[in-house]
Order: sequence, then structure tokens, then C-alpha cells
Amino acid sequence: MSENIIETSGLTRNYGDICALKPLELKVPEGEWLSVMGHSGSGKSTFMNLVGGLDRPSAGSLKVGGEDLLALTEDGLARFRRKFVGIIFQQHHMVPYLTAVENVMLAQYFHSVPDEAEARSALERVGLGHRLKNRPGELSGGEQQRVCIARAIINSPKLLLGDEPTGNLDHKSTVMIMELLKELRAEERFTVIMVTHNQEVAAWGDRTIYLDDGVLVREERMGEKQ
Ligand code: ADP
Ligand code: MG
Repeated sequence: MSENIIETSGLTRNYGDICALKPLELKVPEGEWLSVMGHSGSGKSTFMNLVGGLDRPSAGSLKVGGEDLLALTEDGLARFRRKFVGIIFQQHHMVPYLTAVENVMLAQYFHSVPDEAEARSALERVGLGHRLKNRPGELSGGEQQRVCIARAIINSPKLLLGDEPTGNLDHKSTVMIMELLKELRAEERFTVIMVTHNQEVAAWGDRTIYLDDGVLVREERMGEKQ
């Protein structure tokens, strides 16, 4: 397998007349934490959805984890997502009348088989061992995002995608979430792609790419970090 987990060439996504992502050349080494910045409408989510197999390119090539995503059928793409990708969104997308542990089990159900012990242990890993029976409405914004992280990591993904996961959080909760992701990544060695508006959040990564109107206009490597 190549040491780049993601390789794109001429990767393009059009929506009718709108070119949301213009031919993109990008390589992401396995294990990298890549931050993606840019104004609203610059193509960040479009890029993330392509890489996560949630959407298909209009043109170009896209390899993720050695798989040519353009060659996969819908079923193949669904299998790829289940086995390879964990995603955290800005909105938590939890079922309001299910408890934290049940929400994690629901995600397991769509992937494989619900396993309460496994769901509990994922919630314990994100520091929510004492909140297993609470419903989303009874959790703070930061705690809700922890449930989403538990849900995203339960299948040990090779690629963890975040689309502004701290966009609704205050500074303190944001830092706690980023610290948690850093700890989990140190244990599991997954690659991170983090879309954010926030320079401080981007600075947790190894490298930041900037999109402007669907074009990668700049990239920046972070200095030495502890
Ligand atoms: P960002 O995440 O950086 O805010 P997006 O990737 O969501 O930007 O959108 C990039 C451009 O593509 C925008 O002009 C947006 O309106 C357009 N776009 C995104 N998704 C769709 C869609 N499903 N249908 C039509 N246009 C879309
Ligand atoms: Mg977006």
C-alpha cells in the first residue's frame, strides 16, 4: 500500500454551473493531521464529502487507502465508508429520544451489530462513562460532540473527518475536544482531516490547506509542536 492515504489528481466537483472544487492535486501522507480552511462556500465540505466517499467527483482521480473511489459501486462505496471512515459534523445528528449509549449503538447497527459493552467502552474513552443514560438534550454541546466522536471512532477508522465539529462550541469546550482527538489519534494513529473556520483549531494540525472559490491557494506547515 502507498504511504499516502489520500492521492488526488484533477479532482473536480461541479454542481450544475457551479464548480465547487476545481482540479485539485493533493497528497496526504498516512497519519497526517490536515486542517482545511477557507471562506464559507470555498469548497471545504465538498472536498471532505468526496474524500469520505459521501459524494462522487465530476472528474479526476481520487484514491483513498489504496482504493480508487471512482471505480467503486454504490455498495462498494458504502463498504468503504463503514470500514475506513469516521465522520464528525458540526450538527451532532443524534436521535433526541435515545440515550448516549443507544445513539452509539444505533450507529453500530448501521455498520455491523450493536454491542452495548463496546458502545459503553467507546463512551468511556471519550470521558462520558457517567453520561451513558442521558439523552442529547441533557448533554452540553461539548458532551454531545464527545458522543459523536465515540460514534466516529468505534470502528477504528483509518481516516477521521471533521466538518467544523467545534463550530458551535465555546473556547473551553473546543480545546477539550481537540485535546481528546489528539489523545485518541496518539493511540490509534488515524489520519485526520479537519475542516474549520478557526485558525486556532487549524493550528492543532500538521499542515493547513486554504481553499478559495474551489482552488487550493496556499498551504502552511505547522512549526514544531509538543
Ligand atoms: P464550504 O464548506 O467551504 O462552505 P461547500 O463545499 O459547501 O463550501 O460549497 C462550495 C460551493 O458549492 C458553494 O458555492 C455551494 O453553494 C455549492 N454547493 C455545495 N453543495 C451543493 C449542492 N448539493 N448543490 C448545489 N450547489 C452546492
Ligand atoms: Mg461547509
